[in-house]
Amino acid sequence: MSDVDVAVIGAGIAGLTAATRLKTGGAALQVFEASTRAGGPVSTARTKDYLYERGPSTVRATPELLDIARKLGIEVQYAESLRPYVVRRGQLLPIPPRLRDLLSGRLMPRRALLEVLAEPFRRGPSRPSTVKEFVAARFGKTAANELADLMTLGIYGTTADRIGFEAAFPALAELLQEHGSLTRGLWAKRREGGAVRAGILSTPKGLQALTDRLAEELGSDLHFDHRLRTIVPDQDGYQLGFENGTSFSARNLIFTGRPASLAEAINRPSLSRLVLHASPTPQCIAVFAVRDPAATERWQSFGFLAPSNERLPIMGCLFPSQIFSGRAPVGTLLMTCFLAERLHNADSAQVDKEVVPILQGLLQTREPFETLEIIRYPEGIPTYDRRHTDRVRLLRNALSDLPGFHLAGAAYDGVSFGAAAASGAAAAEMALQRL
Ligand SMILES: Cc1cc2nc3c(=O)[nH]c(=O)nc-3n(C[C@H](O)[C@H](O)[C@H](O)COP(=O)(O)OP(=O)(O)OC[C@H]3O[C@@H](n4cnc5c(N)ncnc54)[C@H](O)[C@@H]3O)c2cc1C
Repeated sequence: MSDVDVAVIGAGIAGLTAATRLKTGGAALQVFEASTRAGGPVSTARTKDYLYERGPSTVRATPELLDIARKLGIEVQYAESLRPYVVRRGQLLPIPPRLRDLLSGRLMPRRALLEVLAEPFRRGPSRPSTVKEFVAARFGKTAANELADLMTLGIYGTTADRIGFEAAFPALAELLQEHGSLTRGLWAKRREGGAVRAGILSTPKGLQALTDRLAEELGSDLHFDHRLRTIVPDQDGYQLGFENGTSFSARNLIFTGRPASLAEAINRPSLSRLVLHASPTPQCIAVFAVRDPAATERWQSFGFLAPSNERLPIMGCLFPSQIFSGRAPVGTLLMTCFLAERLHNADSAQVDKEVVPILQGLLQTREPFETLEIIRYPEGIPTYDRRHTDRVRLLRNALSDLPGFHLAGAAYDGVSFGAAAASGAAAAEMALQRL
């Protein structure tokens, strides 16, 4: 006899969403988390003066997240509607671009505009392509070199040459296939009324209040310090062995960890081969504050992205104090900056030396910066490279003979927080159908 109906491995947003859905569906479940806390990279810092996110901070208000907030009575805070900027030759330009920035060639060389306008008459790309190859095939090489990174830096935390177009932008890939041109496809979508993009959501106490509340809801069904080490299928379901020496059995299993951790736990050589190339993109965030009322007034913005050809020590910065109210004292600009890979192991003094003068130049301020924290994520964000979609399909195929075994979360079904929650909810529905 198995101990429970469903075991959920991992208490990030995917595992927490799956577990909450299973619980309301009446399933007997247990959640096992390797670390000592829930939420994965979600972590809100609260100091006397500041409230900032150490991990995800700009999260789309998807139906799953709004549903969770409503059911658990969590107060939602919406972001201000602000525009982002892009760094071009050492200056910040707004996106979408102003006509004068386009015509003056400040955004990109003027000749590239004609190449961009020719998109409906182009062919390709030949699949599968990286995002950079896709932009080159549709909008020309100059646009690809200068601006393709804008599509990936803010979501995947890396450059456009490392991310697969079909894996990262399935809806755009479908539109291109249907209409033969992205411009035509987007126009058609607009005529139909288009999809309304969900706003950005948090809570007045930050995002961690959401994951903490979900964990609280699970109570004693959530076990920390339980790293899954072995999965042995038997006729009743799955025997699970944990690093701390405990074991457990469940009829169904929802696994939300990374593929490498799965391959280690289950004795299937075909899986080990599949996960060989699935290494994540590490991330490193530096949080700064500057007291400068004029700069705070001037940069009423979401933040900015810095394409790789600018060769800056940062990939981009968010301005949490502008995006959400109540995050910093009035007149102080709070910044969470994603550092370029070469600074991931640098100490605080080196980060200050390389990054602060750049930020002062971009934001046109001479005021001193305070470095609040530097946070490193070696496990970072899953890399949705060219082979991601195929790899996940093959992984799921390789597990298809295991009844009630589900993969969920950002490593498989979309890297955003909302996509991970949706993936967890979908896995829970499948498990419930089987009970
Ligand atoms: C620095 C950073 C910034 C981000 N910013 C944003 C943002 O602004 N907006 C956005 O939408 N997304 C953002 N993301 C992405 C988003 O936060 C994640 O994709 C999402 O939180 C992943 O949720 P998950 O539950 O799938 O995985 P995780 O949160 O990684 O959860 C998986 C859990 O499983 C546990 N686990 C793994 N293996 C085992 C095992 N063998 N046994 C037991 N437990 C195990 C892990 O400890 C972890 O807690 C960001 C990510 C990072 C790293």
